[in-house]
Amino acid sequence: MDNDTSALLRSTAAHAADYLGGIAERPVHATATRDGLLAGLGGALPEDPTPAADVIAQLVRESEPGLVAIPGPRYFGFVIGGSLPAALAADWLTSTWDQNAGIYACGPAASVVEEVAAAWLIDLFGLPEGSGVGFTTGCQMAHFTCLAAARHEVLRKAGWNVEEDGLAGAPRIGIIVSAEVHATIPTAVQYLGLGRGRLTTVDADEQGRQRLDALAARLAEAAQGPLIVCLQAGNVNTGSFDPLADAITLVRAQRPDAWIHVDGAFGMWAAASPKLRHLTAGIGGADSWATDGHKALNVPYDSGIAFVRDAGAHTRALSPQSAAYIAYSDAERDEFRWVPEYSRRARGFAAWAALRQLGRRGVAEMIERQVALAQRMAAGLVSPAAAGAGTVILNDVVFNQVLVRFGTDDRTRAVIRAVQDDGTCWLSGSTWHGMAVMRISVSNWSTTEDDIDRSLAAIIHAARSVG
Ligand SMILES: *Cc1c(COP(=O)(O)O)cnc(C)c1O
Repeated sequence: MDNDTSALLRSTAAHAADYLGGIAERPVHATATRDGLLAGLGGALPEDPTPAADVIAQLVRESEPGLVAIPGPRYFGFVIGGSLPAALAADWLTSTWDQNAGIYACGPAASVVEEVAAAWLIDLFGLPEGSGVGFTTGCQMAHFTCLAAARHEVLRKAGWNVEEDGLAGAPRIGIIVSAEVHATIPTAVQYLGLGRGRLTTVDADEQGRQRLDALAARLAEAAQGPLIVCLQAGNVNTGSFDPLADAITLVRAQRPDAWIHVDGAFGMWAAASPKLRHLTAGIGGADSWATDGHKALNVPYDSGIAFVRDAGAHTRALSPQSAAYIAYSDAERDEFRWVPEYSRRARGFAAWAALRQLGRRGVAEMIERQVALAQRMAAGLVSPAAAGAGTVILNDVVFNQVLVRFGTDDRTRAVIRAVQDDGTCWLSGSTWHGMAVMRISVSNWSTTEDDIDRSLAAIIHAARSVG
């Protein structure tokens, strides 16, 4: 490596440290406009080369006003998560090492960390030993992976080889989901050619949990033949959990041939905590599970995880033809057999590093802290100190999500805008049962009680100022 590259990497590391060093005190929102960013980053494709150091200097200077302080402690938008120090550093190294995590031969260490992290995760969540594990870009593609395995297996049982013969002429697959299904499941169904218009929905209760009586009715109505049932651990608005144990028992009793998939994008992490594990009781009885590393676990983006109980169905659904029929060595993990990708980033390093940094106890404590801080936020919003703000908490805060309403739709939206503009914290709006709501998601490893209290003050101030 030449001296210039070495200097660039060192100055970039210093820049990253400065950025993160200041993140807790800068406004959480971006300050730049699209036009401003285009002025700094746009223009015609340059004809001539530019020295790398100048490129990075420009990128830093011009991008920074357009960055949102997502890795900081007071970003509560969507369900996002930050980056644990070891996971971030491992992610830098992932780019530096530039391993191709497609096959073992292109980077044995990348393959082995996946193998190790996969076993740790199966242990942490209490999933069946020997389940297949794929490291995907996010939960969207984890759903795709799991439901590809489901499609394979339910059609195989019906005597149809979907990988060879496609879907034209195949038996129809029934798919039952909650009325509160996350949008990424219908999208996975769309990608898999199963038709998102063919989903049958199960009514949910006031917290967004699937109703067992409604599920029983849908199961009774479902045609015989291939059937997939999707359950949810962690509603994206309320954080509520479907009654997993009872729902799985019900499906197994009524339709033992059905495949059960669980969307546990962030809620699955409750299973890692002895105090919260009751929320996911029975989860190990499903057939596939999708979660994220980049939300609750605080791995940088590009971290979803798919688990499939039947590892054979998993690889037969995902492997290219040449791989599906070749006996691979079970000793060496070729990563492409578990995900809908070939060449790709070595995602296992960052996931491994996050789990190694925290350990079993650290994961549990981090998840429990997110929940305790969400509950502190909810309590503070209706405490005497919030008098006059007119806040109502709409959900039981069983996990890390808080839904807040400020009287009317208009007032709720106005308060959200005022909080976003203030910059102390950032949270997003959502719609719940037809109402505009403020949604607060506590999912960053570095958030403290002080961050919650500062954010509470900002929200209450915004509500009072809106009138
Ligand atoms: C975020 C989320 C997803 C999608 O995950 P991505 O990582 O964004 O693809 C799916 N389901 C639920 C419940 C989520 O919260």
